[in-house]
Parts: sequence; C-alpha cells; structure tokens
Amino acid sequence: MILPKASRLTPEQLAEVTQIVGAFGCHIQPIIGAVRSIYAIVGDERDELMINRLEGLDYIERVDQIQSPHKLMDRRSDLASHRIKVGGVRAGEELLVIAGHCTIDPKNPNLFYETAQAVKEAGAHSLRGGVWKPRTNPYSFQGDNKSLDILMEAHRRTGLPVDAEVMDEHQLRLALDAGVHMLQVGARNGLNYSLLRAIGHAVAEHDTVVLLKRGLHMGPLNEFISAAEYIVAFGNPNILLCPRGTSPALDGYRNHPDESITPLLKEKTWAPVVVDPSHSVGKASYVPACALAAVAYGADGLCIETHIAPSKGIGDDPKQAVTPDVLAALIRDAKQLWALRHPQPAKAVA
Ligand code: PEP
Ligand code: MN
Repeated sequence: MILPKASRLTPEQLAEVTQIVGAFGCHIQPIIGAVRSIYAIVGDERDELMINRLEGLDYIERVDQIQSPHKLMDRRSDLASHRIKVGGVRAGEELLVIAGHCTIDPKNPNLFYETAQAVKEAGAHSLRGGVWKPRTNPYSFQGDNKSLDILMEAHRRTGLPVDAEVMDEHQLRLALDAGVHMLQVGARNGLNYSLLRAIGHAVAEHDTVVLLKRGLHMGPLNEFISAAEYIVAFGNPNILLCPRGTSPALDGYRNHPDESITPLLKEKTWAPVVVDPSHSVGKASYVPACALAAVAYGADGLCIETHIAPSKGIGDDPKQAVTPDVLAALIRDAKQLWALRHPQPAKAVA
C-alpha cells in the first residue's frame, strides 16, 4: 500500500510507480479518498528491491506491506499444522522442557551424567549441554570436541534427545555426524545469515530440530522470524523460537528479559516458543519466576540451565544453573499454569 506525501499522486507520478511495480509483476489499484488517496500494490509485494525503489521516490511518504515477508513462518502458512516432536512430546500439546548444563566440563564427565539422569527424573524431555561456547572473553574456556562424546554418552544413558549450540560449519558437521538431535543457534548468531543458511541446508533432509535464540541485539520481531525463515526455507520446519533476553540489560538482570514477546510471536507465526529464562536473568534465584512468567505469557516450552552441583560447574553454571530439585518444583508449578492456559474440554458423561 503506497501512501503519497501529497493528497494524491500526479498522473506522471502514478505512471512512474506503475512502471516500477510492473517490472515485478504487480499493478497499482488507486483508492481515491475525499481527503487522501492511497495506492494498493496488487500482486506479490514482497520483493525488497521493489519496495526500496518505491521508498526511494521523494514524493512517497511510506509503503506499508500487507503481506507477511516470511511466507513459511507466517501463521497462515500451510506449515501451521506442523507439529514438532521432542522427547516424546509434541510441542504445543504439552509443556516442553529442555534442561542441562550451560557447559559440559570435559574433565568431569560424571557431573554431566549425573545431571542428565537428574533432569530426566525432574521431568525434562530433552538434555542440553554446551560443547562449544561463545565467550565474550577470548581467554575463557571455549569448549572442547571431547564434550560431544560426553553429550552423546549421556543420551545413550538416559534416552533423552540432546541439544548443543553450533557456531560454525565445522561444528555443525561434527554435531550432525555424532547424531545431536537439536541444534542451538545462539543469541550472538541470530543475524549470522551464512550460518543460518548452512544450518538450514544441513538439516534439510533430517528431522533435526533447531532452537533459534533471539539475537542479543535484535530489534523488530520480524528480524527474529525472518532468521527462522532462513532455516525453514531449506525444507525442515522443525524450528523452535527462543526468547532469551536482549541487550541492553535491565539493571540487575543479565539481559532485558523478553518473555513478554511470546504472545506477539504466536500471533504472527505458528512456531512453538521455548523461552530461556536462564540467560534472560542470569542468576539462579531469579530463574523460577521468569520461567513461570514465560508460561503465563503463553510459552510452549522452557530451556533451563540446570546442574547437579552448580558450584562445581563451568561457563554460566555456577551463577545461573538451578539444581534438579528446583527444576522439579518449577516444572510442577509450570505445568499447573500450563493447564490453566490450556483447559481440557470436559468429557461427556455417558
Ligand atoms: C547458552 O545457551 O549457554 C548460551 C551461550 O546461550 P545464548 O546464546 O543465549 O547466550
Ligand atoms: Mn549458558
């Protein structure tokens, strides 16, 4: 929809915009108003170059797109009926819980095995464990390929599907070859389009799930949804959207907790929303409230850093991992909230 700066386009201006949209297979339908006229673009108006050319005209105030820029992630897409299965749960039908270490310590594999068993008993459906870590400080522990074996051994011991972050194509290949079930795109890589494309391409023929975190500095919601579209466009629709707090931080929290965007995401897309309260707030004692808030806002799942003995952990675990007993209580509470939000239809009495 084109809005001119003046009350209507001159015949010369109308001819120019008609010629621009015509080059993209569209035509113009003027809607003449008593005070102001607007000009509908009829046809597929999603071509960015066409919009840029129109917005570049000095007599145009703005161009409003009616069609969603993300065809596959849009709520009205055919994919809306797609269900993503993780650890026996179909996202959207039951609260999905992913839990485990921020970082696997390759020197202490038993800690991870104990956590894995404990999160399973607490009710988690999938096990997370950082193998390679994006670290602000280049001298901090960056992860270790050995941790991939530990992650897969924890899968064999517990039967839980496993989730790990990949930051480049080499890690992507190693993770897929090892059989990792869920790939995490971290908050620093949500706008790394070559990585998003590489992941989309690599998982196209598989049922691997991708947990896409909201970028640390992402602005409009469309940026987040479009990042998901990059992956899904290759053919695998198993995508989970993960708000995890953004920058700048809210004083006192690690990031600006963003679980409240959940209803907005769900209005625009069909993809399940799995909130990460751990990175949102950055401190174990704040995690349960943030997790419950996420479920109250309508999240389909939670991703929670959990450690059998946080003080012995590495990476984020000493400060923000909850213990398995806290996780168990949180899951119980979160399920009650979930039930309030998803009332079951009363069974007919025979
Ligand atoms: C993590 O999951 O441990 C992590 C580093 O996540 P984020 O990308 O959200 O910071
Ligand atoms: Mn972490």
